[in-house]
Amino acid sequence: MQILDGKKCAQAVKDQLKLDVAQLAAEGKKIPHLAAVLVGSNGASETYVAAKVKACEEVGFKSTLVRFEDDISDFKLLENIQMLNRDPDIDGILVQLPLPKHISDEEIINTIDPDKDVDGFHPVSVGRMVQGLPTFIPATPYGIMLMLEHHKINTTGMHAVVVGRSNIVGRPMSILLSENKMPGNCTVTLCHSKTKNIAELCQKADIIVAALGRPDFLSADMVKEGAIVIDVGITRVADASKKSGFKLKGDVDFENVSPKCSWITPVPGGVGPMTIAALLKNTFRSCKMKN
Ligand code: NAP
Repeated sequence: MQILDGKKCAQAVKDQLKLDVAQLAAEGKKIPHLAAVLVGSNGASETYVAAKVKACEEVGFKSTLVRFEDDISDFKLLENIQMLNRDPDIDGILVQLPLPKHISDEEIINTIDPDKDVDGFHPVSVGRMVQGLPTFIPATPYGIMLMLEHHKINTTGMHAVVVGRSNIVGRPMSILLSENKMPGNCTVTLCHSKTKNIAELCQKADIIVAALGRPDFLSADMVKEGAIVIDVGITRVADASKKSGFKLKGDVDFENVSPKCSWITPVPGGVGPMTIAALLKNTFRSCKMKN
């Protein structure tokens, strides 16, 4: 069993970006600038946004954290997104989800200028991705593809099972893995909460992407010998022994599943850091398009 080390792989992506940014600066060109929009004070969202801002600093990007109170109106938030759209210095806009219930995620995402849609959630980005055209790919699936590429894992002809069909992880993951290019080229089965025979499907899979948000969902008896297992899940589970009062759990029973795998991602330290690395790559791409 080998670990797909997201931390190391993300560091390699960031090291390259650092060099690329230095090159832009040396040529007197524009430096990437990410605007992160955070509404309210959800603990997990605060942590994710802080990590994204810190990663920008690490690689030499500019970043602006734009914060709003929980009770901001959707009109006011839309106005602010439009201001960011018009700001020529901003290359990428990310709106940390979930938003408060009175605001429609969809309406906000659809307002972001597709040229600044570094999260890759806008319908224009999704449409281009489905057609295999160059575009912003949603950061988590993109990060997973980068990780497979980095480890030179050729998935051609494999049967991939993706568990979870959300627009931000499972569905785009299934599309990328089924593309006729490296590291895709799989035959893909997309499962969800209404799938009847998940265990049986997983048992036949050469590669499993677990993205459902149910701690320890994937058990050893659902995995065949030599499978590649990618654990996207992050759930905060109460743990009195931790200073924070919780620990992070993935969707995979790592202890019992890992001995059967050829490759597996840990949680934490797997997909999470790659999601941030992929967001940085999207932001760099956006800036480069302007330059
Ligand atoms: P989501 O929007 O809640 O979607 C969950 C998906 O899982 C849905 O399609 C749902 O099916 C399916 N599902 C739920 N219970 C199931 C079950 N028992 N059997 C089979 N399918 C089931 O979640 P998400 O945003 O995709 O996130 C999934 C997990 O990934 C969460 O733990 C999240 O925190 C984590 N995540 C991690 C990263 C990272 O950077 N590591 C990034 C994003 C998300 P239905 O469609 O039928 O409801």
